[in-house]
Amino acid sequence: MNSEQHAASLSPTTADVGGADGHAKRDLIGLDRAELEALMAELGEPKFRARQLWHWLYHRGARDFAEMHNLSKDFRARFAEKFFIGRPGIAVSLASKDGTHKWLLELGDGQKVEAVHIPEEDRGTLCVSSQVGCTLTCKFCHTGTQRLVRNLTAAEIVGQVMMARDHLGEWPSPKDGRLLSNIVMMGMGEPLYNFENVAKALKIVMDGEGIAISKRRITLSTAGVVPLIERCGAELGVNLAVSLHAVTDELRNEIVPINKKYPLAELMRALENYPGLSNARRITFEYVMLKGINDSPADARALIQLIKRVPAKVNLIPFNPWPGAPFERSTPAAIRDFSDIIFDAGYSSPVRTPRGEDIMAACGQLKSDSVKPRRSERDRLAAESVAQDFPDGAAA
Ligand code: SAH
Repeated sequence: MNSEQHAASLSPTTADVGGADGHAKRDLIGLDRAELEALMAELGEPKFRARQLWHWLYHRGARDFAEMHNLSKDFRARFAEKFFIGRPGIAVSLASKDGTHKWLLELGDGQKVEAVHIPEEDRGTLCVSSQVGCTLTCKFCHTGTQRLVRNLTAAEIVGQVMMARDHLGEWPSPKDGRLLSNIVMMGMGEPLYNFENVAKALKIVMDGEGIAISKRRITLSTAGVVPLIERCGAELGVNLAVSLHAVTDELRNEIVPINKKYPLAELMRALENYPGLSNARRITFEYVMLKGINDSPADARALIQLIKRVPAKVNLIPFNPWPGAPFERSTPAAIRDFSDIIFDAGYSSPVRTPRGEDIMAACGQLKSDSVKPRRSERDRLAAESVAQDFPDGAAA
């Protein structure tokens, strides 16, 4: 094995932890600017305090209130009693021989998700998860074999970026030459099925006085949740990638089942109207190459017809295998022929080089062992958390 595996500490997680007075401490990560300002007002602090905190949290990456030397000692002490600065815990950290890094993160309630950093010559991309598990059940996707456990909170989504920045030693936010310069919402889950939290997290990430990754360097990938595509463009303005993978409804219904709800014609209509679309800002169509299933020259020609009204790029993804997967990767010759047809029609059609395959970090290989608790177990956990929040039984 070329990969190095080690269990790292589970220190501060995104869970609320107990404060000095027995009440839960609150995580500051994941609050947007307006919420932070409201919090300062509630505590009788001036408005500029929110801006100072924002700078420490998201520009400097402070993990501890003690670092915030331009805030008074008294303020820091009072704050540390009520709040904490959360990070997801790192359960497993794996380095691939190609430089890709995968983290299995443990969240406050013990659920697990993965995040992957992919370094390239001129940039570094973090692949971020939006849900624990997924509802989509795409037949070629490993995450698709894991039931949806829950949505991630905004804190847990931003937390993945902050954890990676900690690991890369990339605080304060550098102006150029970043190791983490780009974000793809292409990890576990369907980001448009957790739109509110994803949107809140990305607005924090994009804020120019903090982590400051611009919308042009963020790509959100969706399997095609048609009703939210417009909002994604209008509210976030990020690049959009669409997991197409098939050019007929018949095949797409089978391998990307969300197609039964939002068939190709509806999807294409929504994409034609994606806000901000132009030849300089194209939609990326992701297309997994499955041997003998969707990889013929006729499929390539049908693909060109299908996307002809949308300014587009096509990203061919050689299928990445996982244990028990019912597909094989297309042959290099089939992938080359397919790519040539698309290219000759005037589209850029790069083949996505699989990265981090030795640590199961490549597209579609992410999965955690989190399972949705049974109802009785959920009720018990809910009762326990109420008891924690209200130790004196005030909620009863
Ligand atoms: N749910 C979103 C985000 C996941 S992005 C979406 O569907 O777009 C992950 C990308 O990898 C998607 O394009 C997905 O279809 C693709 N993928 C999934 N399994 C794969 C596999 N085994 N090999 C190659 N690509 C895969």
